[in-house]
Amino acid sequence: MKIGIVGCAGRMGRMLLARVLSTDGCELAGGTERPGHEALGQDLGRLAGGEPFGLAVSEDTGALFDASDAVIDFTGPDATAGHGSLAAERGVALVVGTTGLERVHLEALDLAARRTPVVQAANMSVGVNLLLGLVRQAAALLGDDYDIEIVEMHHRHKVDAPSGTALALGEAAAEGRGVRLDDVAQRVRDGHTGPRRRGDIGFASLRGGDVTGEHTVIFATDGERLQLTHMASSRAVFAAGAVHAALWCEGREAGLYTMRHVLGLE
Ligand code: NAD
Repeated sequence: MKIGIVGCAGRMGRMLLARVLSTDGCELAGGTERPGHEALGQDLGRLAGGEPFGLAVSEDTGALFDASDAVIDFTGPDATAGHGSLAAERGVALVVGTTGLERVHLEALDLAARRTPVVQAANMSVGVNLLLGLVRQAAALLGDDYDIEIVEMHHRHKVDAPSGTALALGEAAAEGRGVRLDDVAQRVRDGHTGPRRRGDIGFASLRGGDVTGEHTVIFATDGERLQLTHMASSRAVFAAGAVHAALWCEGREAGLYTMRHVLGLE
């Protein structure tokens, strides 16, 4: 399968290049960066930390989609929406790891998914996707007497908060309780907030150092507290999940899928 990487000089982009180059059944179709990026023209193999590959980082996104069976996208929300349109036009499968997507970006992916397989997940690791199911189950069983709080920590470069994974965990908890996350989410607390509202799902975001990604879902009631934690210690798990998702798309019908579908957890 020919796989293209958009945003290939980013933290995840470099990991993805290395993973595609080392995975059986994959051929690297190319990699792009945004106009003006210092990595343009650099060899893709070198960028991945290995031997020269003979193809350079390009800014021609259309050509990359033409050359690919699937494209993996860990960039930014606006770029991802544009890549959704290109995937739909070209009938190329799209794997999206970008977080911070808002309604307008998700709509672009929904449109693309009518024409081609699109896998979108805020976290591509096996552990977090298993955790989503556990959180949904715990929230359904424990009920409103247990206050749900979600704490996440990431490296100092992360630009969105709460993290996409924290929000996905919040969605899973809300689903377990049969409520809409938007109605109960407390994404930020500051100043005189008053007491905690029963049924709220709270979030706290920490940023610092080089933390790859840590998430804890807390169920707290009088006399006891249950905590479910996932810790990622290497971005390689996300890259492995994304490449696995791209391979899973081969021959798949158009549609919007999550990593839980890819892993057979849904
Ligand atoms: P990064 O800033 O290091 O990399 C993003 C790259 O995309 C940059 O090199 C940037 O120049 C490039 N880019 C931006 N617009 C582009 C365009 N139009 N065309 C081509 N390239 C473009 O960030 P990162 O740490 O690699 O994270 C990227 C995204 O992936 C973030 O949203 C992050 O939250 C998300 N992420 C998701 C998972 C997951 O498992 N789903 C895991 C880690 C990170």
